[in-house]
Amino acid sequence: MTAPIHRKHAAPMRWDGVDVLAYKRDPASPFRDVTRQVLFDDPALASQLRYFEVAPGGHTTLERHEHAHAVIVAHGRGRCLVDGRIFELALHDLVRVPALAWHQFRAAPDAPLGFLCMVNAERDRPQLPTADELAGLTSVPAIAAFLRE
Ligand code: MN
Repeated sequence: MTAPIHRKHAAPMRWDGVDVLAYKRDPASPFRDVTRQVLFDDPALASQLRYFEVAPGGHTTLERHEHAHAVIVAHGRGRCLVDGRIFELALHDLVRVPALAWHQFRAAPDAPLGFLCMVNAERDRPQLPTADELAGLTSVPAIAAFLRE
């Protein structure tokens, strides 16, 4: 993306010249109904700003990695799991995902969840939980219920 400005569309969180992409290229990562848009990918900033949108009832991959995320809820509502805690998410909430924290974002059953997410341009690949790690996470009833929804 090289143009100085990308005009917003009438549809929320869509812009001229910004492609709406599949969320993950790796089909082994379990997720449901998520799109991805790369808004800024500037080597001078060494970071990327992406916009993800989870359709009602959908969710991102349960994952962790060395890089952190800075997340801003920009559309709709839902919940997230971050480092063993579950949070309700409303418009304009900020979420910090620290290094190596298990995390997942879920849209409400009746609303999408759209969020801006800032990351390092150079970053490690997400890790998925092993069977043992998943058993550890789901030993907490609230987390088990969150992941089942
Ligand atoms: Mn992540």
